[in-house]
Amino acid sequence: MAMHPLASLQPDDIVLDDLPDDVVASMQVRDRWMAALPYAEGGLEFMFADLQAWTPGQRLRVAFLGGTTDLHRDVEQATRSIVEACNIELDFGLSDGQYRTWSPNDTEHAAEIRVSFDQAGYFSLVGTDSTNANIGNPVAAVGGLAGQRSLNLGGFHVARPQTWAGTVRHEFLHALGFHHEHQNMRGPCESSFRWDDDAGYQPTKDNRGTYIEDDAARRPGIYTYLAGYPNLWPKSKIDFNLRGSKDSSGFLAGPFDRASVMLYRFPPLFYHVHPSPCAPAGDGQELSDGDRRGLALLYPRQAAEVGSAAARRENLLKALEPERGLESTAGRSPLAQSAVARLRDSLKLLGA
Ligand SMILES: [Zn+2]
Repeated sequence: MAMHPLASLQPDDIVLDDLPDDVVASMQVRDRWMAALPYAEGGLEFMFADLQAWTPGQRLRVAFLGGTTDLHRDVEQATRSIVEACNIELDFGLSDGQYRTWSPNDTEHAAEIRVSFDQAGYFSLVGTDSTNANIGNPVAAVGGLAGQRSLNLGGFHVARPQTWAGTVRHEFLHALGFHHEHQNMRGPCESSFRWDDDAGYQPTKDNRGTYIEDDAARRPGIYTYLAGYPNLWPKSKIDFNLRGSKDSSGFLAGPFDRASVMLYRFPPLFYHVHPSPCAPAGDGQELSDGDRRGLALLYPRQAAEVGSAAARRENLLKALEPERGLESTAGRSPLAQSAVARLRDSLKLLGA
């Protein structure tokens, strides 16, 4: 029997979110498409909110693949502070003591957020990617189709880390459209990270394959460390996941928030100085004030703010619909079609 890839994980190992490569590739295609759209109202940050976020007031169904009712209940309870902070309902389909489930054989979405425990690591698709057929390979385990996982809490059905509740909140914030705080372009992390090995470092691994200090106490840098167990990442993946997000995947970035559940606690070797301005201020378990502000900004309750979200979506729709203006082939691509469908659904929900 094959060993679970994280079988020899220890409590202080850092496992970074790890979306499958085919999913990341399809997200990058979509980001490039989005960045080239002739739409400037409010800039890319708002375009992200209009295309990638759900609709204020929306009810999002959640369903589980595997796991016990106790585990489902714990996941549901960990997400309550999220729905309290914004205008989104998470509907776990509790009925007769059972939570909603989904199956890889589904042909219609049982839920917008399809939770699994059977893949390695923790990850979630971002916002409406969870139901976007263009995201992920149609025959793979993870993607936007009805029979594909959108949020994974790897191994939670066997054993949970001490920090499981913070992990649940972190992944559900991804599912609501949040990105990592260390990639906040207004934050200090990229320049605070120790990318390279100490001069003269001799690559040295422990018996699990993790890169460690060499005999002269020289340390591996981030690139080398993440190339080893348990992450095993190539450089391109490290750059995509750790460097600041400068342009294309624009998101509503508030000021850098050291208390956010979206900020990782990296191992000491990740930082140039200690304490690092990029290191978390909190324990990463509870939502920070900044997380709550971000949620309220993306999913407002006030009628005026909901109204301006509707007006922006209406304008974006005009720019995307070929029959209503845009004379480009982009208007007929599968990406454009799914964006138009999502904007129409969103406007319907907003009553606009
Ligand atoms: Zn994450």
